[in-house]
Amino acid sequence: MKAEIIPVGTEILLGNIVDTNSSFLANQLPLLGIDLYFISTVGDNQKRLIDTLKRAWQRADLIIITGGLGPTQDDITREAIGKMLGEELKIDEKLWQGILRWRSEFSHYPGKIAQSHKKQAATIPSAQIIRNRIGTAPGWWIEKDDHIIIVLPGPPDEMKLMWQEGILPKLKRRASGEVILSRVIKTFQLGEPNVDELVAPLSKLSNPTLATYANPDGVYLRITAKAKGKTEAQRLIFQSEEQIRKILSSYIWGVDDDTPASVIGELLKAKSLSLATMESCTEGLLCNTIASSKESHTYFKGGVLVCCDEAKAVCGVDTSIMRQYGEESIQVANVMANAVRSNLKADIGMSVGGNIDYHKNCSDIFIGLSSDKFEQAFTHTLRGNLSRIKQRAVNAALFDLRRILLEEI
Ligand code: ATP
Ligand code: MG
Repeated sequence: MKAEIIPVGTEILLGNIVDTNSSFLANQLPLLGIDLYFISTVGDNQKRLIDTLKRAWQRADLIIITGGLGPTQDDITREAIGKMLGEELKIDEKLWQGILRWRSEFSHYPGKIAQSHKKQAATIPSAQIIRNRIGTAPGWWIEKDDHIIIVLPGPPDEMKLMWQEGILPKLKRRASGEVILSRVIKTFQLGEPNVDELVAPLSKLSNPTLATYANPDGVYLRITAKAKGKTEAQRLIFQSEEQIRKILSSYIWGVDDDTPASVIGELLKAKSLSLATMESCTEGLLCNTIASSKESHTYFKGGVLVCCDEAKAVCGVDTSIMRQYGEESIQVANVMANAVRSNLKADIGMSVGGNIDYHKNCSDIFIGLSSDKFEQAFTHTLRGNLSRIKQRAVNAALFDLRRILLEEI
C-alpha cells in the first residue's frame, strides 16, 4: 500500500509550527508495512488543497490528511474533500448533538458554543466518523474506489489518540501483514562518499536497502528491511548489519539512538570511572552535552567554563605555561585536563580549548585528556561557522576519549 500524508495549515508553511504530525505518522506507517512516498504540505487554501488531493489520489492508495477541521473560516479540509470526491456536505444532527454534549461536559471553554462549530458536524455520504474524545472535531475514514482517505484534526494530542483508537485497528486489518524496520549505524572519520563506496556491494540489494546521510557526528547508514513479520525483518537487518560491521568495523561508534555522549557514558559506567571537564572556547557546550546524557550524575563530576586566563589560573592552570606556549595551546589543554581532574577529584580530566578564527571559519582545537594512567593531547583543525565548530570540537573531544577508553584502560 502506497501512502501520502497531507498536513494542512498555512502556519506550517510559514515555519511558525513544526510539522510533528507528519513525523509521528511517518514513524507509524512502516510498522504496518505501508510505504510512504510523499508528504505534501499545503496552506489553508481550498483550491490548492483540492489540487493536492487530486495529485495524491493519482499516486497513493492511502491519503492521510491532518488539520483544517476546526470551526473557523480558514478550516477548509471537509469542503475540499467533498468537492474533490463530488459529494455533498450535510450536517449530521446526531453528530452535532454529540459535539454539544461533549462541549458541555468536558470542555474547559466557558460560555455557549459558537454556532460556527456546527460545521464540524458536517459529513459526506462515504465518510465513517472517527470519534474525538478530547476535542470537538470528529475525524473521517473514507473508502472509495480502492482508496482510503483518513482525515484527522491538527492538534497533535487529538490526532494521536484518534490514530491509536480509531484508525490503527482498521488499518491493521487492511495492511498486508508486512513490516518495515530500520536500523541506523553511525560512523565517524569517513566522508559520505567513502562510506557509500565501501558499502557499494551491499547497496545493490533491494531488501534490505541502504541509505547514507551526513550528520554533525559522522555519516549514518540506515538499513531498512521489509518482510512478513517483525522476526524476519529483524533477521534481514541483523544479517546486513553483520556485513556492514565487517567492512566498516572501527569506524562504527554507535547505532540508532546512541549519541557520542551516551556512548562514552556507557563506557565510563562499565569501567566505573568518573569524568570532569574544563572548556574555554565552546561556551559550556561540552559540559552541557555530557550532563544532558542519561544517568550522567553517576559518572560526571562537573564541568568548568573558563573565559579568560585569570579564570584558568584560579582553576589551577599554571600561568607560566600559558605565557610560554600561549593561552590556547596543546600544552595548556594538557594542564587544563590535569587541573580539573584534580580539583573535581575525578578519574579522568578532559579539556577543550582553541582559537576560533571568525574570518576564516576555521579553527585549531586542542583536546586534553588525563588520568593517572594516561596523559594525551590532540589538535583538530575544524571548519564551519561558529556553532558548527563548537559542535565538532565537542564531538572530537568525546571521540578522542572514546578511543582512549577502548584502547588504553
Ligand atoms: P482546531 O479545531 O484546533 O482548529 P484543526 O483540525 O482545524 O483544529 P488546525 O487549525 O490546522 O487544526 O491546527 C490547530 C493546531 O494544531 C495548530 O495551531 C497547531 O498547534 C497544531 N497543528 C496543526 N497541524 C499540525 C502539524 N502538522 N504538526 C503539529 N502540530 C500541528
Ligand atoms: Mg483550525
